[in-house]
Amino acid sequence: METVIIMRYGEIFLKGDNKWYFEKILIQNIKSALKQKNYKLEKIAGRYILSNYQPGTEKELVSIISKIFGLHSASVAVKLETDEMKIKDYCSTIKIGEKSFKVITNRADKTFPIKSMPFSSILGAIILENNPKATVNVKNPDLEIMVDIREDGNTYVSTETIECAGGMPVSSAGKGLLLLSGGIDSPVAGWFMSHRGMHVNALHFHSFPYTSLLAKEKVIRLAQQMSVYGGDFKLHIISFTKAQEEINKKCNKNFMVILMRRLMMRIAEKLAHKIDAKAIITGESLGQVASQTIESINATNAVVNIPVFRPLIGFDKNDTINISKKIGTYDISIEPYEDCCTVFLPKNPVTRPKIKDVLDEESKLDIEKLVNEALETDEVIDIIKKE
Ligand code: ATP
Ligand code: MG
Repeated sequence: METVIIMRYGEIFLKGDNKWYFEKILIQNIKSALKQKNYKLEKIAGRYILSNYQPGTEKELVSIISKIFGLHSASVAVKLETDEMKIKDYCSTIKIGEKSFKVITNRADKTFPIKSMPFSSILGAIILENNPKATVNVKNPDLEIMVDIREDGNTYVSTETIECAGGMPVSSAGKGLLLLSGGIDSPVAGWFMSHRGMHVNALHFHSFPYTSLLAKEKVIRLAQQMSVYGGDFKLHIISFTKAQEEINKKCNKNFMVILMRRLMMRIAEKLAHKIDAKAIITGESLGQVASQTIESINATNAVVNIPVFRPLIGFDKNDTINISKKIGTYDISIEPYEDCCTVFLPKNPVTRPKIKDVLDEESKLDIEKLVNEALETDEVIDIIKKE
C-alpha cells in the first residue's frame, strides 16, 4: 500500500481552452518549489499525484505545496487498487479515536458498481465499528474521509484536506514591479499580486548614508521571505540619496513627501519598462498616512503612464497585519529600521497638495537627470526561493 500526496487545483478549472497554458506554468512552479526533493509527479484528471518521495516527509512537502499559488487543496492519501474489498479492508484499519467524521465518496470511475452515497454509508459503518468512540457528523465533522475513485483504476483515501494558497499560478499573469519598503504593507501588496499570478519583482529605495546598511539588509530578508510564495525574483536596490538632497536643497520642505513620491514613481516606471514589467504595485491604503490621501495619490499617479496596482487600498491596518503574520513577513517588517521617506521629513507636510504648487516646486529640479542618475545606481539582487 502506497502513500501519496494529492494536489487539487482551483480556478484554473474554469479556464476552458486555455487551461493547458495555466497548467503548464503550475507544473513548472510545483517542480521549482520541490527542486531539492526526489519524487514522481503524475497528472490525473483535475489532480496531480506526488509519489516516490522520501517516506515520512509528507508534512514538510504539504507545507511547501500549500504555498504554491494555483493549488486549492492537498491531502496525504493511501493509494489502493480500485476494488470493493480492498477499499473496505483499508477503511477497517483507519484509526480516528473519538473524533467525529463523515465519508465522502467521489465516484469519477462510473464502472465502479456501488454508487457514491451507499458506498459512503457502507464505509462509514465499517469505520464506526472499528472506532467505537467516534461519531458520524454530516454537517460539521472533525474529519472528512475522502474516497476518491479515479478513472485511472486507483482509489485514493485521505482523512484530512489541507487548504492551499489558491489564486493563479505565479507568472501566468505577466510581470509587475513592487515598490518594496521595509514596512508591513508593501510585502502584503506583493503577495496579493503574486496570488493573482503576477511574477512580482521588487524595487527598494535606500538613502545611504542617511539610512544604514542594516535597512537594506532587512529588505533583502523581507524579499527572501516573500519568495516562499512568489518564487525566484529580482530585487532592485536604487539610491535615492542624491534626489533627496536636491529636493531638500532647492524646494519647499513641506512638499518633500509628495516630490519624493512623484520621483519614486518616475524611476519605477522607467525601470518597469526596462525589465518588461506591466504594472507598478504599492502598499498604499487610502487615508492611512498624509501621503495616502486621494489628493496625494492622484498627484503621485499623475506622473506615470503605467497602471499602478494598490491591492491594499481598502484595507484596514489590522487586516494587513494579520495577512503579514500568515505569510511570515510581519516579524521582519516590525524590526526597527529607518525608511528613506523619513529622512529630511518636514514638520508640516502638505496633505492635500495642489498640482500647480507641486509643479512650481518641481520646476526647481532637473527631473530627468535625477531619474537617470538614480537608475544608474541600480543594484540587482537575485532572490532565490526559500522553502
Ligand atoms: P509600508 O508598510 O509598505 O512601508 P506605509 O504604510 O509605511 O507602507 P509609506 O511609507 O507612505 O506607507 O509608503 C507607501 C508605499 O510606497 C509603500 O507601501 C511602498 O509600496 C512604497 N514605498 C515607501 N517607501 C519605499 C522605499 N524606501 N522603497 C520602495 N518603495 C517604498
Ligand atoms: Mg513605510
